[in-house]
Amino acid sequence: MIPRETIDRIFDAAKVEDVVGSYVTLKKRGANLLGLCPFHHEKTGSFTVSPSKGIYKCFGCGKAGNAVGFIMEIEQCSYIEAIKQLAQRYHITIEERELTQEEKQRQDDRESMFVVNDFSNKWFQSQLHDTQEGVTVGMAYLRQRGIREDIIRKFQLGYSPEKAKLWEEAKKAGYQDTYLVNNPDTQIGTGVCLKDEQGRLFDRFRGRVIFPFFSVSGKVTGFAGRLIKQSDKAGKYVNSPTSILYEKKHELYGFYQAKQSIKREDCCYLVEGQLDVIQLVQSGIENVVASGGTALTYPQVRLIHRFTENVTILYDGDNAGIKAALRGIDMMLEEGVNVKVVLLPEGEDPDSFARKHNATEVLDYIQQHQTDFIRFKTQLLSEDAGNDPVKRADMITQIVQSIAIIPDIIKRQIYTKDCAATLNIHENILIRKVIELRKKHLAEQRKKNITSRQLPQNQENNSSDSAAITIEEPIEPTVEVQISPARSAKEQNIENLMQVIIRYGEQTLYQSDTAVIRAGEYIINELRRDSIVIENPLHQLILDEYIAHYQESNWVAAKYFQHHPKAEVSQFAVDMLADKYELSRMYSKQMVSENVVKEVDIPSDLDILPELVQRMLLELKYTIVNERIDSMQTMLKEAQKRNDWELIRTILEQQPMLMDIRQQLCKVLGNRVILK
Ligand SMILES: [Zn+2]
Repeated sequence: MIPRETIDRIFDAAKVEDVVGSYVTLKKRGANLLGLCPFHHEKTGSFTVSPSKGIYKCFGCGKAGNAVGFIMEIEQCSYIEAIKQLAQRYHITIEERELTQEEKQRQDDRESMFVVNDFSNKWFQSQLHDTQEGVTVGMAYLRQRGIREDIIRKFQLGYSPEKAKLWEEAKKAGYQDTYLVNNPDTQIGTGVCLKDEQGRLFDRFRGRVIFPFFSVSGKVTGFAGRLIKQSDKAGKYVNSPTSILYEKKHELYGFYQAKQSIKREDCCYLVEGQLDVIQLVQSGIENVVASGGTALTYPQVRLIHRFTENVTILYDGDNAGIKAALRGIDMMLEEGVNVKVVLLPEGEDPDSFARKHNATEVLDYIQQHQTDFIRFKTQLLSEDAGNDPVKRADMITQIVQSIAIIPDIIKRQIYTKDCAATLNIHENILIRKVIELRKKHLAEQRKKNITSRQLPQNQENNSSDSAAITIEEPIEPTVEVQISPARSAKEQNIENLMQVIIRYGEQTLYQSDTAVIRAGEYIINELRRDSIVIENPLHQLILDEYIAHYQESNWVAAKYFQHHPKAEVSQFAVDMLADKYELSRMYSKQMVSENVVKEVDIPSDLDILPELVQRMLLELKYTIVNERIDSMQTMLKEAQKRNDWELIRTILEQQPMLMDIRQQLCKVLGNRVILK
């Protein structure tokens, strides 16, 4: 919890020109400052900063906001993370609630491990650049791969020699074994050193060129070391062991160096290895990261998705690894990422291809050869299946499976059409199959969602941990916990209403000569009147606070909740305020057809607030009635099995009434089918 006064102090201290100026070169233009927009590609500056107003605005892409908003946008971080970052910058101490002993210990462990990693990283670099072994062995290897000095520095490559010893230096500098050696049980310790049975230390990465991994904010989380000499015993690559800072399968190599370019180009190139990244960056393409293997993980996909929706995967020319990768790609589709695939010419990998071509040539090649993933998969599998009917049926299922998990309905439709044409199948057959698999997929997600809710809430500490812990991506407990919940229709309906309360809670909804009814007040009264239970404690907290404050003069819900000292409240408010869509945009289509609004242009939310609120409440009620009818149906079946005539009679008595209510709600809602 960050106290209100501290947040106000941070807002006062953060000068927008300072904050923006550390990312963008700004030139004075009258009262304002001008620069090249970091959020879109431009050659002449249309990105303006107004120190007097405390805001930035881009006249090219329309992005605008204050200092905190700028940090959130450029670092793709939460409100709280941005606040913490600014606090650090302006040396404002955030006094949060007292941490428990255990939390303090964990925080100390993390900090100490970052310090050891940083020490090791500097040592590896100095070994590479300043020692004879480093230059003749490590540097020689990198030079032979054609890697330039500036790129070596950019990625902070290093070398761990055979002779000189990191562990000796680290001990001399006073670092404890606990943080040098990894304990696999507690996952504490960086593992840059190993310990033998006699308790002697030695270096893990001896004789290897070092590639450090960085967190999103640029701290060293771990290392990969590539062996230079041929050896039968040792593997070509060795990575840091899994720890509370580093988990190999969750890392994206090069992300820290690429993140701003990914944002600016609104696209991320995905390759497999470190050298692929380095060579592409050297050729002039900066928005590239490596997954470190064929199978992507949810944390990797989520991280990329925070910065862009578009991913292009570059594959080696020979088809070997591609089929293994197909499943990992499905995961990206499920997350709503647009995936394209580029096959490099036979015998080339991104590393070798980038060494032979400059950025323009590489980009031209990508432009000409990139295929949308679904189309790519269709072609790939249909080559395999040939005319074998069994194989073809199996192939269609596989492709439809990929389409069915795409969250966006319009994209699903386009792909279905496209796929039908490519495969020469009747579109209706595919549509039916997509719907069937989509239902199955949603049901599975719901099941996972229920299991994950029963797990302990490991992520609660997000709200209270220190800056380092929150800004560094926490290592998430299990993949299952993070599967984005297929929210139930009821939850979605309620969240829509919460959005109205946070955005427009204080606005007058209805007015008579004697009374004024505010939007939030009206919603809360309606929920009470129908005894609708709010299950989510965060939602309930917001409703309670709304009731406590809405009558204060000049009280603005958005401001209040956004600056709320409880992190989860302010985070939720920021999410609800993030202006992806005006609410009315979602509803306008239906309302046009019902003549509530005219088609000329989409009205602003405030113009139609009463209608919006009414509709949202009706939808919620409809959902609840529907759920009740469903559960009654299940009960009825059970009762019939048990020959429980008493229960059967009661259900049959109540059912028509509910059906009737549903019918009426349907009529008001315009008889449309409500999509779940
Ligand atoms: Zn812009």
